[in-house]
Amino acid sequence: MKVLKSIEEVRRWRDQFQEVAFVPTMGNLHAGHLSLVREARKVSENVLVSIFVNPLQFGEGEDLDSYPRTLEADMEKLMAAGISALFLPTPEILYGEDAPFIVAPPNSLIADLCGKDRPGHFEGVATVVAKFFNIVRPTYACFGKKDYQQLRVIEAMVKALNFDITIIPVAIERSEAGLALSSRNGYLSKDSQHHALRLSQTLLAMKEEIARAAENQEIIPTSYEELEAKMTEQLQREGFLVDYLTIREQKQLKKAQVTDRHLVILVAAKVAQTRLLDNIELTIS
Ligand code: AMP
Repeated sequence: MKVLKSIEEVRRWRDQFQEVAFVPTMGNLHAGHLSLVREARKVSENVLVSIFVNPLQFGEGEDLDSYPRTLEADMEKLMAAGISALFLPTPEILYGEDAPFIVAPPNSLIADLCGKDRPGHFEGVATVVAKFFNIVRPTYACFGKKDYQQLRVIEAMVKALNFDITIIPVAIERSEAGLALSSRNGYLSKDSQHHALRLSQTLLAMKEEIARAAENQEIIPTSYEELEAKMTEQLQREGFLVDYLTIREQKQLKKAQVTDRHLVILVAAKVAQTRLLDNIELTIS
């Protein structure tokens, strides 16, 4: 595994190959990241992973300074996973001293859901990913469905800015009990991690209720909102601070209509100060 620290080193490494697969991360790697690496290895022998905690995507009062940094352990995992190269830029190398040029995704994609609570977040994500795409020039890039809105923003950016890159979406990796793996789970006590399971359980219950209603042709336009409200209240009663719990169509993430077949139920909620994300897809046949 080559460890690359400068943009020039990455460019030289990249130029050796016809095809490259890229996995951007913020480190503190867990099985979710490693499943992205596995998918990357399926499409190319030449896998480059980046670890970079991107200051531009953190808002004021967010956890930029305390975000877990575990480079040594991360490197061991990546070596065992058989990647070819690891890119470890610093903020200075990526952004220099000039004010950054910002990639601004359209409001239709970022005004809602996580964008609503985290102003500037998706601009920060799009900007750093666009820079990585120009530096690495990957053929493929893997992104987790765990960050569903982020995945849609990146797909839209690739289309709008004509990046010649195939985005590979990767399914959410969960703990045995069902908790979506996340670097931020480490902020939670064992008890809170157990409590957080209610999020994936709630998504599953909603999925089953929608599938059952669809089978019995019971879905009416208001019923999605009723279901959202009922389950939101339930989570709130259980002590969650719910940012959103919502049923959307999968592509534009607009509120689901009865005619939509490909749905995703998304939740963002705080458990003991830690904001967790989860979602589940469902297709009504
Ligand atoms: P992060 O290091 O949190 O920025 O995540 C880097 C990449 O890993 C993103 O594409 C995430 O969506 C993806 N990812 C994080 N957690 C998971 C998970 N539990 N399952 C699948 N992908 C994940």
